[in-house]
Amino acid sequence: MTATNATPARTRSARETAPATEPMTRAFDVQVTAVQELGPNFRRITLGGYSLRDFGVHGSTLDLRIKIMIPSPAPDGAALPLPEFRTEQTGWYREWLAMDPGTRGSMRTYTVRQERLDAVYPELDVDFVMHCDDAGHGGPAANWARDAKPGDALTLIGPNNRAAHCVTAGTYSGTEWRPGMAQRVLLAGDETAVPAISAILESLPPYFSGHAILEVPEAGDFQAITTAADVEITWLARGAAIGRSRPHGELLQEAVRAAVTLPGWVGLRPSGEPAAGPEPEDVNVDHDILWETPARMDAAAISASRDPDKPAGAMPFYAWIAGEAVVVKELRRYLVREVGIDRKQVAFMGYWRQGKAEL
Ligand SMILES: Cc1cc2nc3c(=O)[nH]c(=O)nc-3n(C[C@H](O)[C@H](O)[C@H](O)COP(=O)(O)OP(=O)(O)OC[C@H]3O[C@@H](n4cnc5c(N)ncnc54)[C@H](O)[C@@H]3O)c2cc1C
Repeated sequence: MTATNATPARTRSARETAPATEPMTRAFDVQVTAVQELGPNFRRITLGGYSLRDFGVHGSTLDLRIKIMIPSPAPDGAALPLPEFRTEQTGWYREWLAMDPGTRGSMRTYTVRQERLDAVYPELDVDFVMHCDDAGHGGPAANWARDAKPGDALTLIGPNNRAAHCVTAGTYSGTEWRPGMAQRVLLAGDETAVPAISAILESLPPYFSGHAILEVPEAGDFQAITTAADVEITWLARGAAIGRSRPHGELLQEAVRAAVTLPGWVGLRPSGEPAAGPEPEDVNVDHDILWETPARMDAAAISASRDPDKPAGAMPFYAWIAGEAVVVKELRRYLVREVGIDRKQVAFMGYWRQGKAEL
């Protein structure tokens, strides 16, 4: 792409000498620099801007999430950036909520699919699922991405690499991939998890093995993923034909059950019984966010885990599951209760809820 802005370049060494008082997370003004159709239901939006020199974590971005501030389609849509909003670490969200809901626009969560932050003009790619309901309406983010064109302005919120403590994806709170010592892995998700699973797979060294299972709307949405790891990648298509497409998550559930089989996948108890685990607490996914990851488990959940004495990451298997919340909840019950996988070895993340807008 051609850079239109003439801000002078800042170097890596300048970043590394930045003061330690910088906020961990901040706002970045960017513009759309390219749009690419990846399949019938995916659109890659490339976002660029000199502000991105200060964006990111060092090393692979893995499942790094960002907040995207979708501008209000209202003609009098509010200009977002208040000075405090742009720099304050904890108060910006409150400030944004306090703005007029009719004009402040919408905040949505997305994954950094790829980054080229060291380029002369830094860019990152975000892959949007082009979802819509039976009447053809998507949410604010899907609608924005459908109409996006080079030059459109956007604000995103993400990691500030000038914060000295924001070192790698493994220490930044906006990533969840934490396999610890595990080298056998399961990654499973629907279309909203495809960008994260793809980025994680691309980062894995050869000694990782296991399965990656991705369910998408149509076969035309399958994407090429390059990985050095010995991970078997399975794409599943629900099918586009009206009346003949499979329900959301059904194929994913079947494939996870086939990859992580019963009985005794985890092992047998000393008594010789298959190692079923405790029933996980119920989560009402219509009211609460299903987000149970080793990095965020509280003391009660750790003591209720299968091996409370072993720290998270100490075991050979790790699973990362994301997608529609009810589907993730069912997979959580299968893996924790029926298979007996320790909850400290699994990240369960409801990325969205059918019939419910993100905010
Ligand atoms: C950590 C994280 C990372 C994510 N990364 C990505 C990503 O890289 N790419 C991506 O496309 N999404 C991603 N998502 C999911 C995305 O945030 C949601 O799909 C979001 O709801 C889309 O916002 P919207 O404004 O389009 O729809 P909303 O206004 O939130 O919802 C409007 C309606 O559309 C439905 N809906 C929302 N999403 C979908 C969907 N995918 N399919 C079908 N119906 C839907 C809702 O249930 C609701 O009924 C991620 C979510 C999280 C939490």
